[in-house]
Amino acid sequence: MIERKISFCRICECSCGVVVTVEDGRIVQVEPDRENPLSAGHLCIKGKCFPEVVYDPDRLLHPVKRVDGGWQRIGWAQAIDEIGERLAHLIDSNGARAVAGYIGGGAAFYPPSWQLAARFLRAIGSPNRFSPATIDAINWLRACEGVLGDRALIGIPEWGDAKYMLVIGANPLTTNFSMLQVMPRGLELVRKARQRGAKVVMVNPRRPVESMGITDEHLFIVPSTDVFFVMGLINVILREALHDKEYVASYCSGLETLRELVADYTPEATERITGIPADKVVQVARDFARARGAFAIAHTGVSMAPNGTLGEWAVIVLNAITGNLDRPGGLYFDPGIIPSKPKAAPSERRPVPVSRVRDYRLYGSEFPCSILADEILMPGEGQIRALIVTGGNPMLSFPNANKLERALDQLDLLVCIDRYVNETATFADYVLPATTFFERPDVSWPLTPTSAVPFLQWADRVIEPLGESKTELEIFRMLYQRLGIPLMNHPGLEEEVRAAEEAGEGIEAISDLVFTFLMGGARVSLDELKQHPHGLIFGEKTFGQSIPDRLGTPDKKIHLAPEEFVEPIRQLEPPVPDGQDNSFILICRRFLSSFNTSYHNAPSLRKVIDENFAEISAHDAGRLDIADGEYVTVQSKVGRVIAKAKVSDDIAPGVVAIPHGWGHVYETSQRLARQTPGVNPNVLIDDEASCDPFTGNPAQNGTRVWVTKGAVV
Ligand code: SF4
Repeated sequence: MIERKISFCRICECSCGVVVTVEDGRIVQVEPDRENPLSAGHLCIKGKCFPEVVYDPDRLLHPVKRVDGGWQRIGWAQAIDEIGERLAHLIDSNGARAVAGYIGGGAAFYPPSWQLAARFLRAIGSPNRFSPATIDAINWLRACEGVLGDRALIGIPEWGDAKYMLVIGANPLTTNFSMLQVMPRGLELVRKARQRGAKVVMVNPRRPVESMGITDEHLFIVPSTDVFFVMGLINVILREALHDKEYVASYCSGLETLRELVADYTPEATERITGIPADKVVQVARDFARARGAFAIAHTGVSMAPNGTLGEWAVIVLNAITGNLDRPGGLYFDPGIIPSKPKAAPSERRPVPVSRVRDYRLYGSEFPCSILADEILMPGEGQIRALIVTGGNPMLSFPNANKLERALDQLDLLVCIDRYVNETATFADYVLPATTFFERPDVSWPLTPTSAVPFLQWADRVIEPLGESKTELEIFRMLYQRLGIPLMNHPGLEEEVRAAEEAGEGIEAISDLVFTFLMGGARVSLDELKQHPHGLIFGEKTFGQSIPDRLGTPDKKIHLAPEEFVEPIRQLEPPVPDGQDNSFILICRRFLSSFNTSYHNAPSLRKVIDENFAEISAHDAGRLDIADGEYVTVQSKVGRVIAKAKVSDDIAPGVVAIPHGWGHVYETSQRLARQTPGVNPNVLIDDEASCDPFTGNPAQNGTRVWVTKGAVV
């Protein structure tokens, strides 16, 4: 029997609609859903090739336990019982902080998974929660909180309606126009905008080759100097009085302090720091301010730098002083599916836990990933002894990978919930097989306000789960039960779910109960969504209703110079060359055919990019006598990798780019990925010294390294 089922992709934020052809219970094709009102026919190569993941012979389809250094197949009952017993024992003997959880990108797009993993930790009383937010995006959110008073007030760029688009540290064609935002039709929108005369300027240390077709001008910049570049733009705009005076007077505070903070960053000073010519700084500033409908965005290139929070601060302020926040053609604020709750009064706030290592306060209910290894390695009360990893791969995504390896090795208990025995799972005691997204009922991700338009979609499972794999909802359900915790730590939901189970209901009914619970107070109900299988745009895109109303600052103003940022801005220091011939600044990058550490075991995607590399400029290659394809050694203060050199004209001299998410050198189940493993640039990243001071986010961009011809072992 052949069926065509409507669903959506859940690899990245875009949530593209798909039509899946299923023949006798097996997926044979994934095509774009042209009737999906959000994605309208967009589907990238990862979504098309996803059946290769579903039917990957290397996929884990039953629970396994480590026995005598090998894997033993076990049943679900045994796995959950043993894990539950060991967790209970650890909590009893060492306290709740002994248990930590990492909720990875694989869980982020399945709300029950993320919620259950997070609430499990809360239920047992452990603050030790980690996620990829503190690898890439947290600095942006921290800056939103500083300037706008709310880290969820994320501006969505108006790709289709802006007249001027300043894109810093991003490569939209490889990221599908997304960093947290749901923007599947970005390419179509920006093409139309350019036909109407809009201008796109990109600023990166590496020319974003994949996005040059939508770029009018590209400016090379010295890595980690974005904050100085944007302060240079603000300097010009304020000196020439090009700012939106009415908007600033109505909605902003701190203008005079801002003037003082940017006063030194004249175009000439900005050129000396960033490498961007002074006349370009002036031109970009004038064009941006005069565009009347412009946005500046700073993606991972900025937020993953050592001063990422302040880099993002400068960009939000640039948008604010030109009147482009909450304005058509500028940045839009989606009210989200669930209206945000008012902040608790200071007197009602609970004490915020502080990490044992480096004294980070819990932020967004999480500690930074950069401290996990030391929290495991450092003895004493509260030492982490057990880690539950849900849909993630810290071994390839956390800084100072060599240290993390030692830490994972030392854990008393490591449990991974994943589709594969991935690199992290090679250190695990148990690996529990999760379904893919086509094997579970689901609601599209934007439960937080990041969608290009107010949109949501529900999809039933397309096929039955393969082997013994289970949804994370079912897996955590069993774990909660084993430890006597009500589902979602909520007795009312537990009661409803138990009644459904006793009535013989399956995962579909349980899933409905859980989503109804999670969507409590939402602007659209699950029943309404089910009546719109292609997805539902449930509201108008509106402007002028977020600022000032949704600002979280006490005075309902946009804080151009937040008090907590002022002194750190004054103390900002540009990176200083160390004078050595082979000294470089490391940046990371990604490919469209992969998603962080994932999709390197899919044959069609491996045909696109087979392995990562160390990309350096032809100028540097000539200087150091390095040929394209030759091995080079890249050394930092904390580690060393040996990679193939890629010599190109697309990267600034003095910069080396190594795509992240690679280094498949462990005994994983992913045989294809292991054939050409690539290298893990996180071996080079310091987990202590160069982290962002506000968030602890490691500097995957901006680390000093030394590149040597040949493989130095
Ligand atoms: S853009 Fe994202 S959601 Fe859309 S098909 Fe590609 S990976 Fe899937």
